[in-house]
Amino acid sequence: MEYEVVIGLEVHAQLLTHSKIFCGCSTRFGSPANTQTCPVCLGMPGVLPVLNKKVVEFGLKMALATHCQIAPHSRFARKNYFYPDLPKGYQISQYELPLAEHGWVEIEVNGAAKRVGLTRIHMEEDAGKLIHDEHLPVSYVDFNRTGVPLLEIVSEPDLRTPEEAAAYLKVIRNILLYLEICDGNMEEGSLRCDANISLRPVGTTAFGTKTELKNMNSFRHVQRALEYEIRRQRSVLESGDDVSQETRLWDANQGKTYSMRGKEEAHDYRYFPDPDLVPLVIASEWIEALRASLPELPDAKKTRFVHQYDLPEYDAGVLTGEKALADYFEACVRDFPQPKKVSNWIMSELMRELKKEELGMEACLVTPQALARLLALVEEGAISGKIAKNVFLDMISTGKDPADIVREKGLSQISDAGSLESLAREILAANPKEVSDYRAGKTKVMGFFVGEIMKQTKGQANPKLVNQLLTGLLKE
Ligand code: ADP
Ligand code: MG
Ligand code: ZN
Repeated sequence: MEYEVVIGLEVHAQLLTHSKIFCGCSTRFGSPANTQTCPVCLGMPGVLPVLNKKVVEFGLKMALATHCQIAPHSRFARKNYFYPDLPKGYQISQYELPLAEHGWVEIEVNGAAKRVGLTRIHMEEDAGKLIHDEHLPVSYVDFNRTGVPLLEIVSEPDLRTPEEAAAYLKVIRNILLYLEICDGNMEEGSLRCDANISLRPVGTTAFGTKTELKNMNSFRHVQRALEYEIRRQRSVLESGDDVSQETRLWDANQGKTYSMRGKEEAHDYRYFPDPDLVPLVIASEWIEALRASLPELPDAKKTRFVHQYDLPEYDAGVLTGEKALADYFEACVRDFPQPKKVSNWIMSELMRELKKEELGMEACLVTPQALARLLALVEEGAISGKIAKNVFLDMISTGKDPADIVREKGLSQISDAGSLESLAREILAANPKEVSDYRAGKTKVMGFFVGEIMKQTKGQANPKLVNQLLTGLLKE
């Protein structure tokens, strides 16, 4: 039997506010444990939460950027469960009246665009962090994270492949980064994703039983975990069993998912409206002011790149697919105004090297200005394009200036017609057969002569000049 895969993602984004969602404690990452707490976020009796307006503002920005309908009235709810990292015994979240609903984003996989629905976006508080001692049978709890604001962004079950799921997650992350409301760091947990997945026989409409995958802290892990889970569910179904509804954890080392617990149902949480917080009413003037203040978003930037820089759609899509990359491109073009050449270098050399080293743009040692200076050296004829690629490798591993590398390594292009001509004469004299072949009409031999000269000059001869010289000499 053929199965169709159905995937929906729940993304949690930690918001870049300075203070927590219901108290004034700092949200700074990496401080000593339990130094950023107060009676409110420690869940002491008798305290009252006060909503941080910035959290609502960030939520509204995300809602606007993803075409959601914003609820004029929404409400906070208590989600009750016991866990040592949750001192109140409940998490303040939103339930039946979320901030925003019915949005969509567009993803692109293998050149085909697809719209993915957003079910809802709501605000909630994060829980603390348990730290398990590796050597002693002891666990510690750090409450610095309790009360850090989160947006939960829930997709419709519209995704059909692990690639689509990864593409969707990238799009969501990118929008958050464009809006500057989340740092998008999956390793540090400021962007987290739970993936829900089920299989159904092709041609049927009812959804199969889903499992929920947690604990995936990179795009690659999301994709691999889903691929594993597809194989696992298929073999369960093929053996005639039912998939059980459960929460599973991804073990990246073993490349497997394993059962963590049976999935709880909404009624297990005993949701009810939080009596400590008033209903949230959002003035339409505020929404309109935020709409007007939104920065240029990925789709708009892509369209502008195509028009302003005359780039192919593909290039514009890759460059704007990550804000840091788009900014890098524009900074480089400011100094070296040949957009297509800049785009080629970024998409091939730069992205390949960063990927090889598994580095993000923020760790790139080559500034856009330095790349522009390298391209200018090629343009002026100081070095060849081929040499430039080697210089670039040096730049990206050392952060040195291209001109310094060229000088230190003596890589300047040889454009001295006199010395190149004598070298060309030597090579022609040493290869009489090829010379007569050429003169008999086999002009392809030219490549051989050029290659010989390049070999002898370690690639530093000016190729245009070499061609001119050889053509002239061969006519003699
Ligand atoms: P739960 O209440 O179990 O968390 P929800 O209805 O809130 O389930 O859905 C959570 C996520 O799971 C959403 O992203 C949704 O698109 C996705 N989802 C729901 N049903 C399925 C299914 N049968 N297969 C795959 N994903 C699903
Ligand atoms: Mg859910
Ligand atoms: Zn606090």
